[in-house]
Amino acid sequence: MGRARTPDRCPDCSAPLSVAEGFPAWCAHCDWGAVTVQASHSPARGFLARRSTRMVEKLYEEVSRSPAHRPGWDPARVASYTLAICVHTSTVALVAFALWLMIAVPNPVTVVVAVSAVLVAWAIRPRFGSLRTAPHARYREDAPVLFALLDRVAGELGSKPVHAVVASGAYNAAYTTVGWRRRRVLILGLPLWDVLPPQQKVALLGHELAHGVNGDSRHGMIVGTSLSTLGRLYQLWRPSPRDHRLNYFIDLFARLFQILLSAAVAAVLLLQNILTLRAGQRAEYVADALAARLASPSHAAGLLDTLVIAEATHVHTVQQHMLNDRRSDYWGDLRTALAALPESERERRRRAAAGQRLRVDESHPPTHLRIAALSTHSARPPAVRMTPAEEAAIRAELSADYVRIAHDLIDTARASLA
Ligand SMILES: [Zn+2]
Ligand SMILES: [Zn+2]
Repeated sequence: MGRARTPDRCPDCSAPLSVAEGFPAWCAHCDWGAVTVQASHSPARGFLARRSTRMVEKLYEEVSRSPAHRPGWDPARVASYTLAICVHTSTVALVAFALWLMIAVPNPVTVVVAVSAVLVAWAIRPRFGSLRTAPHARYREDAPVLFALLDRVAGELGSKPVHAVVASGAYNAAYTTVGWRRRRVLILGLPLWDVLPPQQKVALLGHELAHGVNGDSRHGMIVGTSLSTLGRLYQLWRPSPRDHRLNYFIDLFARLFQILLSAAVAAVLLLQNILTLRAGQRAEYVADALAARLASPSHAAGLLDTLVIAEATHVHTVQQHMLNDRRSDYWGDLRTALAALPESERERRRRAAAGQRLRVDESHPPTHLRIAALSTHSARPPAVRMTPAEEAAIRAELSADYVRIAHDLIDTARASLA
């Protein structure tokens, strides 16, 4: 059977290509095959993209000169809190207006207007989540070794203890507060957790728990909920497709109204994003610095490198399992595939990630800049060490989650094909 022959010289610069069996060929000289040039956006988006790229670069230069600290009350932070409080006040005002309308001028028209106003306020109300919607949450008594490690990490960071851990199938981890009591919950993506060596696992926990102490307003009670309220409001007013049952002019008028409202909401959301972008990215550098203190700078950088390199291997392994009808252990196959990943393909993935253009709403600074910032930290012994025995014990504590998530990943992949 014939195979399409891969050229052995770069079509762009004629340098010899890097070719590894089973992986895309690419050029280490000009990044052909690694970095795809993205199509340019509209002039306004282009302007915003250039501005945010400059902001990201300036912030990187700052933190590489002197390590990032918790953000202070600079004008952008004051403005973002003011804007968030205005958003929440408007939600309350909407309900107050509805009540006033019903009492002051009670008639069928005002009742309809008032009820619609209350429905909108209800749809966009700030939400705090609930652990009742997470049936697989693990608590202290379910996973004593994992929680003992989390306690050591939290103790070093001076953050409050974690209340629950929810394992997920995401190639990611997150730290959030849930419910009115603001309980701290760690969301642990097992595909990422499982490929990390022990000290990189410590770095991951350090980075995530640091989000509770790094002054990140985007995840906070006031600005965080304002961002999600605005997001919901935007979804609510997004113009619907043309409804042919309606009179042409009524439909046109309704959609024009939606366009104007959603554009206004989008503008406020964009402003809120711009105001918090710098502080949010600074908070990420602070979290990285804390992870470096906990696990060592080289392990914190190693974590970020794994984050960039292993995701495509995880996605590929899921696809393989879907096609082979899960005859082998997904987690074992993922580790074997990652161990066999050639160095040239690792480097291609690093360059592909570094070549991606920045977006205004990007929450994290580009990974290659985060790794470069970590290289300015002087080496020192880790504050928290994880032993191989602890690693194995945690795996056993989460064994039911490992089984469930391997099944879910493959089922989800199959459903997306159907
Ligand atoms: Zn080339
Ligand atoms: Zn983070």
